[in-house]
Amino acid sequence: MVQASFNIDLDTLADDVDSHTWLIRADGLPAITYNRVLPRFIDLLDRHGVTATFFVIGRDIEANAAVLRQLAEAGHELANHTMHHDKQLVNLAADDLRDEIVECDSRLSRLAGGPIAGFRAPGYTVTPRVIAVLRSLGYRYDTSLNGSLAYSATKRLFKAVRLQDKSYVTCQPVADHFGPRNPYRMGDSLTRRDPAGTIIEIPVSVIPLVHYPFVTSVLLPFGLTATLWGLDRLIARGRFVNCGFHVNEFTDPADVAGRSDRFYYTSKLMRTPLAERMRYFDTLIAAIKARCEVVLLRDVAA
Ligand SMILES: [Zn+2]
Repeated sequence: MVQASFNIDLDTLADDVDSHTWLIRADGLPAITYNRVLPRFIDLLDRHGVTATFFVIGRDIEANAAVLRQLAEAGHELANHTMHHDKQLVNLAADDLRDEIVECDSRLSRLAGGPIAGFRAPGYTVTPRVIAVLRSLGYRYDTSLNGSLAYSATKRLFKAVRLQDKSYVTCQPVADHFGPRNPYRMGDSLTRRDPAGTIIEIPVSVIPLVHYPFVTSVLLPFGLTATLWGLDRLIARGRFVNCGFHVNEFTDPADVAGRSDRFYYTSKLMRTPLAERMRYFDTLIAAIKARCEVVLLRDVAA
């Protein structure tokens, strides 16, 4: 039986507006995400009796400590998603890059009462400099490498056509899209295996043939049948099912009344009614639970 992980990036609604032009007042958005949106995902996990890995932005920890502590106590895993979710993380000066990872780590480990095992970079863009910081902190895994050619092409297109803010996204070098497809011990280059490596890379699952990432915000618009077909392809090839969610997929237009068109990704997802999205997630989680051994990412890197 192949292994699978449910994991979710807690990018709040504030991370989905234009961070340079600030089209809306975004102060209350992280609170909306944590108090109204996130409970829908937690309910879903509870109903299916499964646990998940939550990638937390350090900036949001203090204000949402009670919710996060409850997650840890319920057996979920808290992992590092940097301090501020800067989409230019990999281009920061060495000290600033390190601070982004270390500050989130120290707040999160204090809250969880123990060491944090894993990391995911904003926008799935990672470099050897990032991995070096993770190694120095004793991290066991990174789960940022996204070898999807379809995702990469979309990102490059987006970067090319968005005239106003070209720095909104950073892209992974194309050569990094051809690494191992299952979790591996990382050597001195991102895509090279090394049995002596201390960091395990748990790559984003890429659906064979179509090369789409197994990330629900990408798959949801294609519908359930296409998503389950992708799951079949992964399982048939014995691939680890790294099922990635983003919390904003659980947003209802009523949560952000009057300004729901201001979000890049969330507004597109919200064109599908929340009830329909919840049925999609419900069926997907049931299908994965029925066919895979569900684990936390830290267990993969144990
Ligand atoms: Zn993120």
